Amino acid sequence: MARIGIIGEGIAGLTASISLARKGFEVTLIGKGIKETNSYLAQAGIAFPILEGDSIRSHVLDTIKAGRYLNNEEVVWNVISKSSEAYDFLLSLGLNFEENEIEGGHSFPRIFTIKNETGKHMTKLLYLRAKELGVQFIKGFASSLAIEEGNCYGVFLNGELLKFDATILATGGYTALYKFTAGSSLNLGILIGDALMKGALASNLEFIQFHPTGFIGKDVKLISEAVRGAGAKLINEDGERFINELEPRDIVARAIYRQIQKGKKVYLDATKIEDFKEKFPQIYMFLTKEGINPEKDLIPVTPIAHYSIGGLRVDLYYRTNVENLYAIGETADNGFHGANRLASNSLLECVISGLEVARTIVRDNPRVKEVKEIKDTTQELGDIESVKEILWNYAGIVRSEKGLKEGLRKIERIEVDERIKLLVRGILECALARRESRGVHYREDYPFMKKEFERFSIFDGRCLL
Ligand SMILES: Cc1cc2nc3c(=O)[nH]c(=O)nc-3n(C[C@H](O)[C@H](O)[C@H](O)COP(=O)(O)OP(=O)(O)OC[C@H]3O[C@@H](n4cnc5c(N)ncnc54)[C@H](O)[C@@H]3O)c2cc1C
Repeated sequence: MARIGIIGEGIAGLTASISLARKGFEVTLIGKGIKETNSYLAQAGIAFPILEGDSIRSHVLDTIKAGRYLNNEEVVWNVISKSSEAYDFLLSLGLNFEENEIEGGHSFPRIFTIKNETGKHMTKLLYLRAKELGVQFIKGFASSLAIEEGNCYGVFLNGELLKFDATILATGGYTALYKFTAGSSLNLGILIGDALMKGALASNLEFIQFHPTGFIGKDVKLISEAVRGAGAKLINEDGERFINELEPRDIVARAIYRQIQKGKKVYLDATKIEDFKEKFPQIYMFLTKEGINPEKDLIPVTPIAHYSIGGLRVDLYYRTNVENLYAIGETADNGFHGANRLASNSLLECVISGLEVARTIVRDNPRVKEVKEIKDTTQELGDIESVKEILWNYAGIVRSEKGLKEGLRKIERIEVDERIKLLVRGILECALARRESRGVHYREDYPFMKKEFERFSIFDGRCLL
């Protein structure tokens, strides 16, 4: 049986590992541990349009409306239509959801949740089941991809080539390239940049979602959308409400940003939520550690980098354009989220893409070719802190031609892993080329959506839009 290597132990990678192991493949999963993933941190839950009164069509429409019509419709229908399959898969592993909630942009309470620690429960269970199925776990960080002449042969780990018939990138997104994020610091997109350097295509890199209600204290954390879903209100320091809290994330994030630009502090007032502690135990715990009792006190909030909508370009079946290289979850982009990801659609995509890629691999029946010598292109990380400053300042919630050009000038002068530099150039160049505002990409010099830009961007070393 073919040997499959999966990089990244989040929900996408773990789902793929279980599905492939069940099909009899020899599966190796490389990662730094499930607690180092964004999947583990996911709070609210996973969207399934499977309750009475809901419909696939309604979920598709919500996804495309939030995505500002940039979504690939075929992908959206394909993913959402497989919801009941994904739900069954999770239940077959022994998962028990507790409640259903509504979140911004959804027209139905279709978010399945477990005590607002949904990611933790899902990740732990998937990990356990993958172990039971004989998936081999290797603790470590894959430092580069073994790609030669359009073919992937595996990955390098600690200087050694691990050969696989198929390699699946499930390394998450690249939000850790931004100064403030509540996500894993490992999500730097190094292997996305590496793949790009070796001929893979990326798309929609300019679309970075900012979560409206980040909390920057001793630690950077997130106050889940579900808290607003449960009735918490956003107010400024004068006690004024300035936005409907259940609008999609991009709108709420910009409204908060504008208040902050005006010099006003912004707070989430969750004092009217009954049983906050029972409903949101994880959030309650970290807030009390920061000296805030959400049942009595206002919670100071600010937008933070949250989700990479763009990623390695994949087809409907999660193939990249490099032979034997696949990408799933937040690493990949096939147009599901459009210009703005709808809340709780990410975990859905992780499970569906993990299940789907396993079927694709069965059909493709990939076999690694004879390997000539392949060079390990691992590099030193370098000055990553300056990269984070540059993206935060010039490719943040509000962008402009002047700022993006300044960002491009600055990035060239930084000494940092060339693969990260390439990825960052992709974000900045595509944000510069998209002379419109759409979804999470907001240009103060082009504040409207334009028909001529109703298409995705491709980055192959330069931005094609
Ligand atoms: C705080 C927070 C809350 C969220 N809440 C929700 C929610 O309620 N619902 C929802 O749908 N989405 C939510 N999201 C988004 C969602 O969690 C992620 O998009 C999703 O979990 C991504 O899963 P993944 O499997 O693609 O990657 P990840 O879960 O990010 O896992 C990939 C992991 O691979 C590892 N890795 C990276 N590079 C390498 C390498 N070279 N070698 C080895 N390992 C590597 C890293 O540890 C990385 O974290 C949330 C995100 C955050 C940060």
